[in-house]
Amino acid sequence: MNKYIVLLILFGVCFSSSLSNQEKFFCKQCHKFVHTIQKVENFWDKSIVWFLELVAEGICAYAKIEKHSVCKGAIHEMTPVIFEGIQTRYLDEDFICPLIRWCPKVYEELKLEDYISNILKDKPQNTRWPEIDGTDTIEIIHVSDIHTDLLYKEGTTQNCDEPVCCREGLEEKSYNRKKAGYWGSDRNCDLPERTFEQFVNFLKTDVINPNKKTFLFWTGDNAPHDVWKQGREYNFQNSRRITEIFKKANLGVTIIPQVGNHEMFPVDQYDYMTDKDSGLRVEFSKMWKEWLGDETAQFFRENGFYALEFDNFKVIAYDSQVCNPDNWYLLKDPTDPSGFLEWAEQELKKSELKDQAVYFMAHIYTQECLVPWARRFNALIERYSYNVRAQIYGHAHGEFFNLYKGQNGKPMNIAYISSSLTTYNNKLPSFRKFIVDAKTMIPLNYYQYRLDLDKYNYIGEGAILKWDIVFDFLTEYGVTKMYPEDLHGITERLFNEPELLKKFDFNQNSGTGLAFDDALEYFCLLNNSIKDEYRVCKGYVMKKSWTEYISPGWRKRIDNPEKNDKKKKTKKKKQQKE
Ligand SMILES: [Zn+2]
Ligand SMILES: [Zn+2]
Repeated sequence: MNKYIVLLILFGVCFSSSLSNQEKFFCKQCHKFVHTIQKVENFWDKSIVWFLELVAEGICAYAKIEKHSVCKGAIHEMTPVIFEGIQTRYLDEDFICPLIRWCPKVYEELKLEDYISNILKDKPQNTRWPEIDGTDTIEIIHVSDIHTDLLYKEGTTQNCDEPVCCREGLEEKSYNRKKAGYWGSDRNCDLPERTFEQFVNFLKTDVINPNKKTFLFWTGDNAPHDVWKQGREYNFQNSRRITEIFKKANLGVTIIPQVGNHEMFPVDQYDYMTDKDSGLRVEFSKMWKEWLGDETAQFFRENGFYALEFDNFKVIAYDSQVCNPDNWYLLKDPTDPSGFLEWAEQELKKSELKDQAVYFMAHIYTQECLVPWARRFNALIERYSYNVRAQIYGHAHGEFFNLYKGQNGKPMNIAYISSSLTTYNNKLPSFRKFIVDAKTMIPLNYYQYRLDLDKYNYIGEGAILKWDIVFDFLTEYGVTKMYPEDLHGITERLFNEPELLKKFDFNQNSGTGLAFDDALEYFCLLNNSIKDEYRVCKGYVMKKSWTEYISPGWRKRIDNPEKNDKKKKTKKKKQQKE
């Protein structure tokens, strides 16, 4: 070989290796630099957080958003979390070093279209639910947003100068003759615990049919709404007491629980990346072990979601903090934070093979979720829409449903959103019972229960509370079946039937009056499971929210994919030790 060619090759090898060494050197230096800043950050952190709190408090007080103590408490709780979220996102070597090109790319963008086309690639041709069998039924009671208030006090003002009233020591905002009733108040007040106790008794005496297999879905939000002065332990206590009351009552039903955004401290916040909040899952898995069984409780403790199987039926209960737009920790990385979507897909696959019906249950309904998450979840539902026979959610403190639409724009699945047991705010204590076809698990109807508070407050302490069945779904909305196309049919009638519109409005307010007379509003609310599509339906101009600019978007590690797996393993080990 020509010596010049050999020399050229050698030169090339040396150059490329020295170049990669140079790259490595710069990359290392960049990491060192970022680590140094991270180490000295503590002093600056505190100062910046202090300064931001001061400014936010000033704005809150100046704009008279809330009274000073409420502003101060809420801002003091939330500012460090928001600051941490933004800081972890930007003061990260994996963000800074590739940005200034001192290190190679660490992440690759995960495109939404790729996820959707991959999920839907083997979607069956016919996904219409089977015909109803009709030989037997089971029953599902759904209660949500109980929000008991252990500080509720009869006779106090229900129109106070703080966000949560009906407590001692609060000033009246404007004079109102009506005071906090013994059994609750349909204003800015949460529920007295005694009303919840009576609710459980009422389930036992009047709602649960001993001849029917019955499930009780409990979709979270148990702590009161005084979010500006809470703590981890404070938020647990209501859930603990509610669990104890359910256990003592021995209802003879299968209870399926999940947490809401108000179980978190501060409200809405859960850090999936460091898993520093895992104590919350440890606590709830202990609380609910008796109902979930050892193995499922352990799984829930490790992941925040779980599945329970009952022959032809599987319930997937997930912690909706993974898609909560108010969870600032998702700013760091919103990519399937707990691995729920990946796991749910496998669970759906298994159910499809067994021809098993699946129900999803969680606290936050997907229309209120982060849009990229909701779009992926919608695709998952579309792929398995034949198996998913219902979805049960709370959080709205109002009753309605959301239809899931496929790529062809046609409705293919349903989320039933139930109203709250708490009265917060301006609601009557509500819950519902579904009657479900036992073989196919398709809902046949549901009965909506509401408490006539005025009647029982008038009787006072000695009253035995009985919730009224205010309507059943089929009669109320004039349908004979509850398939997605039947429910879509109801929404189309909204434009021509003012009485139907009024019903939706009244029920959305849990029977406390009418809010707005807008057919398009309800049509869009009911027909969409994704926030952006609801906005498009309403005719709004689509704008990116400011969090979308900050968020890194969905991504996959490409420099060292094992790093993520490693993190998951350490997370599991940590939990096993606890
Ligand atoms: Zn709630
Ligand atoms: Zn909620």
